[in-house]
Amino acid sequence: MKSLMRPWKIRVTPLLTSHFAGRDVIRLPREDDVTLAEKTRLAGVVGAGGGGFPTHVKLAAKADTVIANGAECEPLLHKDAAVLEHMAAQVVAGVQLTMEAVGAKVGVIAIKAKKDHAVEACRAACSGTPVRVHLLGDYYPAGDEYDLVHEVTRRLIPPGGIPIQVGVVVNNVETLANVAAAAEGKPVTHKVLTIAGAVRNPVTLTVPVGTTFREAIDAAGGATTHDPVLTVGGLMMGETTGDLDTPIVKTATGVVVLPRDHHVIERKLKPAPAQAGIGKSACDQCRYCTKYCPRYLLGYAVEPHQVMRSLAFTATGEDYWNQWASLCCSCGLCTLYACPEEFYPKEACDASKAKMRQAGLKWTGPATVKPHPMREGRRVPIKMLMKKLHVLQYDHPAPLKKSPLEPRQVILPLKQSAGVPNVPVVGADDRVVMGQPLGMVPEKALGAILHAPFAGTVTSVTRDRIILARSQ
Ligand code: SF4
Ligand code: SF4
Repeated sequence: MKSLMRPWKIRVTPLLTSHFAGRDVIRLPREDDVTLAEKTRLAGVVGAGGGGFPTHVKLAAKADTVIANGAECEPLLHKDAAVLEHMAAQVVAGVQLTMEAVGAKVGVIAIKAKKDHAVEACRAACSGTPVRVHLLGDYYPAGDEYDLVHEVTRRLIPPGGIPIQVGVVVNNVETLANVAAAAEGKPVTHKVLTIAGAVRNPVTLTVPVGTTFREAIDAAGGATTHDPVLTVGGLMMGETTGDLDTPIVKTATGVVVLPRDHHVIERKLKPAPAQAGIGKSACDQCRYCTKYCPRYLLGYAVEPHQVMRSLAFTATGEDYWNQWASLCCSCGLCTLYACPEEFYPKEACDASKAKMRQAGLKWTGPATVKPHPMREGRRVPIKMLMKKLHVLQYDHPAPLKKSPLEPRQVILPLKQSAGVPNVPVVGADDRVVMGQPLGMVPEKALGAILHAPFAGTVTSVTRDRIILARSQ
């Protein structure tokens, strides 16, 4: 610990430290004079649907509507439905607390109609509260904030903007359950996620943050392929890795395991220069990628075929063509569904956005947004998407296993959210109790505090992670 530099001033809240002494489990402050935003900050709550934005920031805003995002449109993942089915009361409590904090009169849980058990549980939990259920169709993408806000409120977020600009706070359903827990003094120590694809028994698990995917896949009966590749976060928007010892972080929604020679994996693992090269030489500007783009259909100036054009004409006008990528949400539909030639428009958009960020260029297109008349007709049903992805054989339920996994140790990356990483406040050989903060976020910086998911001994602290072994 002594060798670690602490470049920032650390403020360990007295309210927090006073709760440590002589306890096996930490409880954070529950006093009424502590705001929900502060309790949520102390509990390290972040967007649990993949976004990872620290939730306390949203709770400090003013809005008229709170939407619980349970849309969960990534094929084969079921964790939001499991959270809603088994923790509906906590989610509704989280929505109500959030409504109170931001001054909202309307609270909505958005969920796909096909998740009937979860819908039933939500309706029962909403009874007698101001929160209502909004049913969504079974299409991809449904959970994109721009799409969801329009679906529920008919409001259109200004181009490049965020939901609060139209008076809406959107949080994932698990995030809201964590907000309710934070109000009770419980920090985020565990994560719910689905293990799907080429595994013996697809399952939805609750695991301590920092559990490896290897242990989670073992709990799903193990992989059914000798060379598994993981799409962490889902087939459409997830990251691909062959490293099974990758730790599960607060933003993980699930993993789809596939054989290395699966068509989707082969496409995702193609090196970036080869992806760009194919598009540069052969894209015929048919525009299918744009015609199916959900942001384009909602009325935003996203035109991936124009971004593909920039691959071929990099000597002139590149910044102009890149503008057509700026409002892309990286849903992956253009690359993995729409393009008949199986080129990589989404990756071209990602590269364009990164380039524009580096250059400090902001989008300067029209401020008006008008949904396309063909929008409803061009929605992509999940079954058709799964067929295109060649994963229909993996379409099985992944029921929630009630008891959490209990790994012997966890690997805790110091950065698990948007913003800055944690600065460790523990050292090797320190004994910690469950819920104890292991790191802190510098005062006034954006980030999320990391807590011990169980009682144990810190075995290693490096610049980017802490390893914690469970007490025997
Ligand atoms: S759909 Fe494919 S071929 Fe057609 S314009 Fe888009 S990238 Fe080019
Ligand atoms: S990834 Fe493709 S389809 Fe999705 S928003 Fe971006 S350009 Fe549109």
